[in-house]
Amino acid sequence: MKIFVDMDEVIADTYGAHIDIYNQEFNGNLTTETCMGNEVWKMVPTAHQDSVRKHATRRGFFRNLRPIENSIEVLSKLNDVHELYIASAAMQFPNSLEEKSDWLNEHFPFIPWQHIILCGHKHILRGDVLIDDRSYNLEHFNGRGLQFTSPHNIRTTGFERVNNWLEVAEKLL
Ligand SMILES: [Mg+2]
Repeated sequence: MKIFVDMDEVIADTYGAHIDIYNQEFNGNLTTETCMGNEVWKMVPTAHQDSVRKHATRRGFFRNLRPIENSIEVLSKLNDVHELYIASAAMQFPNSLEEKSDWLNEHFPFIPWQHIILCGHKHILRGDVLIDDRSYNLEHFNGRGLQFTSPHNIRTTGFERVNNWLEVAEKLL
């Protein structure tokens, strides 16, 4: 199968990074649990929302993300038996291109550059499976869309859901 895998909130813990940076800079006490069902920026005082929304434009933001639990092990196995591509709408934040490339080379060195698609719209992707946390990416995919659970999408319905990488392994390995 030809499988596309998103980066942010699927293999890279962007959500956790927003919380960590906010707590550090504003002496906050946000947790994943208290933000459940929402975007992080919506959970902070109005005066701080702009700061959180601009985290992704900062140098280094995408380079220092933690990999999502079990993503490295499962992607490595998927890569052995399927045609695997990383597909990230990186053009939303042009500064992220080099950082995402470096981050993948560090944490997912088994994925060659020819299988890394840093793109704009994902509507152009044609394949068998797309694993993504955002409904607007899954809606336009012609194959099987798997919605990867992230704190922001726990109330979203309408897509086949995977809650973690072990569940992906059960479905696709
Ligand atoms: Mg994402």
